[in-house]
Amino acid sequence: AVDKNLAVSYNLDEVKISQILSNLISNSIKFTEKGHIDIRVDKVSGGDLVDKLKFEVSDTGVGIPKSDFENIFDSFTQPKQLTTRTEGGSGLGLAIVKKLVSLHDSEIILESTVGRGSTFWFEIELEQATLREKPITDQSDQLKGYKVLIADDMMINVMVARELLRSWGMTIDYAETGVEAIEKTKKTRYDFILMDIHMPGMDGYEATKLIKQPHNPNFDTPIFALTADVTADQRKMDSSYFEEFMLKPIERDKLFQAFLNLSLAGNKQVPVH
Ligand code: ADP
Repeated sequence: AVDKNLAVSYNLDEVKISQILSNLISNSIKFTEKGHIDIRVDKVSGGDLVDKLKFEVSDTGVGIPKSDFENIFDSFTQPKQLTTRTEGGSGLGLAIVKKLVSLHDSEIILESTVGRGSTFWFEIELEQATLREKPITDQSDQLKGYKVLIADDMMINVMVARELLRSWGMTIDYAETGVEAIEKTKKTRYDFILMDIHMPGMDGYEATKLIKQPHNPNFDTPIFALTADVTADQRKMDSSYFEEFMLKPIERDKLFQAFLNLSLAGNKQVPVH
């Protein structure tokens, strides 16, 4: 639900805010078997230029014991921290949320009752903005007909990416695991591949390494690494594997531009459609 008193548009760091919300929402989905998830944005107070907005993600899921409230945001220090996500997750989600909210000079607040559900909320001040021109991505069919493989184990990410790429006229195939991604690349030649780095089992690096083998029909297909971890040290990553690093949730203009640059640079033939 969005408060109808909000301004039409705000100046904000879209990547960070979407990252915060997407981490909170995917947790809510993960920890709520039945019931519902509620996402709200409300204007708490407002001035001529700046409004204070409250963002809230609540669920009717398993809830979180009070004793965990403190350390749940400090997942970095927990022993369960893993580089490759298995069952429970990387344990980075809330640590990232806390950091990103603090970059907005605010604090993430948790209210929860075990068995009832959880609410995560934060308030930030945002400057009202006048509407910008329509982004270039809305008025272009330059990517029409290209075939993209998305490899990501989180269905919500796949769904979001699929909608976006579809709106650009691209054709989308997806794989839930690294192994599945390799299988698909053996059968179909793609124009681009979006590869989540953290997948359970075979991660994105391993999968990419195998796709880049000379006998794979996609050995020279541009592969974009997707990571939800804004704090990731990209220097540690072997950039020779990947054409681009993209933060999740995907920034539409950036992705569009990256696709476009590569298709122009590579003199890709726009497929007949
Ligand atoms: P991850 O989910 O990858 O383990 P997070 O930092 O996102 O890492 O979450 C840490 C832990 O906090 C989760 O493993 C879970 O135990 C708990 N948690 C987070 N969000 C919720 C929620 N909405 N409901 C219940 N538990 C949650």
